[in-house]
Amino acid sequence: MIAQAVANPVRLDAVALRADFPMLRRTINGCPLVYLDNAATSQKPQVVIDRMQRFYTEEYSTVRRSIHLLSAEATRAYEETRRTAARLLNAPETRQIIFTKGTTEGINLVAHGYGRKFVREGDEIIISATEHHANLVPWQMLCEEKGARLRVIPVDDRGELILEAYEKLLNDRTKLVAVGHVSNALGTIHPVEEIIRLAHAQGIPVLVDGAQAAPHMPVDVQALDCDFYVFSGHKACGPTGVGVLYGKTEWLERMNPFLGGGDMIESVTFEKTTYAPLPHKFEAGTPPIAEVIGLGTALDYLCRVGLEAIAAYEQTLLEQATARLLAIPGVRILGTARRKAAIVSFVVDGIHPHDIGTLLDQEGIAIRAGHHCAQPVMTRYGVPATARASFAFYNLPSEVEALGAALEKAIAIFGG
Ligand SMILES: *Cc1c(COP(=O)(O)O)cnc(C)c1O
Repeated sequence: MIAQAVANPVRLDAVALRADFPMLRRTINGCPLVYLDNAATSQKPQVVIDRMQRFYTEEYSTVRRSIHLLSAEATRAYEETRRTAARLLNAPETRQIIFTKGTTEGINLVAHGYGRKFVREGDEIIISATEHHANLVPWQMLCEEKGARLRVIPVDDRGELILEAYEKLLNDRTKLVAVGHVSNALGTIHPVEEIIRLAHAQGIPVLVDGAQAAPHMPVDVQALDCDFYVFSGHKACGPTGVGVLYGKTEWLERMNPFLGGGDMIESVTFEKTTYAPLPHKFEAGTPPIAEVIGLGTALDYLCRVGLEAIAAYEQTLLEQATARLLAIPGVRILGTARRKAAIVSFVVDGIHPHDIGTLLDQEGIAIRAGHHCAQPVMTRYGVPATARASFAFYNLPSEVEALGAALEKAIAIFGG
């Protein structure tokens, strides 16, 4: 990755881009905000805030249902986001893009629509040991209900999935593989291409949780050949309350709807309801219209900055942060995979991660401390929690340095 970044100079001006983000002008405890909690949620550029404000003040109406001009315009703007999302993921058709509330809902939709229909007693679902609870609990619930079995791809000390073990887990009872593209707790970029290829060799569909990937690197669902791909708008510079599910048409058409209600039907009688065609079959009720429209602006913004440039620039922050933290005695980084996104999970001898978080907050540095909704990963490494710094393209090398300096100060105070 490094060699690549050097070969293609990083064309991204983080200082200039920061001016687009009003929140980055805030001070915290008298210090300039250093926002390093991007894996939890990202900040919003002014264009996204403005777009939603304009929708509410000048264009507000519902979508799909009414024949008046405002509704037609709102529908057009809403559907434009679908095209933008399809372009972002290189989906073949826009009807393969389903708007959800976020990654969690996208996975639950597939667990319900695919799982309840195709998984039976004795069947197996494979996930990995690094999954976010959002890509674990829905499958566990499904397995409990169906008498199916959850199998887990183990992870090695570096935080890389053990593919030989994965191959042994695949069998004719396996009904689905669900893996994260990038681990939010460790930063590992999983070899999803290989995982998908091995599953498809046995006719097994694969869902990829792209919450930490889609906002940070180019994603091509056709090249990956995944069956489902999900991500959240709020981690991609967009609003909360909206996310994207991509699915292969054949699966989406065969699956049960998730929620029943208005807009997802073709005709309703008390005897029988027939469902609307894709994508409406999976979008029951009045959707989060302003949020979907704001998401379109956010995804356009990311594409303009360029996901190649974002990935390359964030790699430089990762390299810098890794070196800076490892130079501090008593600091240990969890997750040392060869391919990593810009997420650094760490522990410090003698200081609880929550205390690290609190001390850094006093310097205006926002990180996350906890189990990162991935308790089994924490168990695997024998820690209850870690501190986690996670970067975005609007972070600066000076902020990485601020993190290192504040951490040294915290350790001095605690006598770590
Ligand atoms: C944040 C995250 C989720 C959950 O996303 P929501 O927006 O809370 O639904 C799922 N998986 C991963 C890897 C995440 O980082």
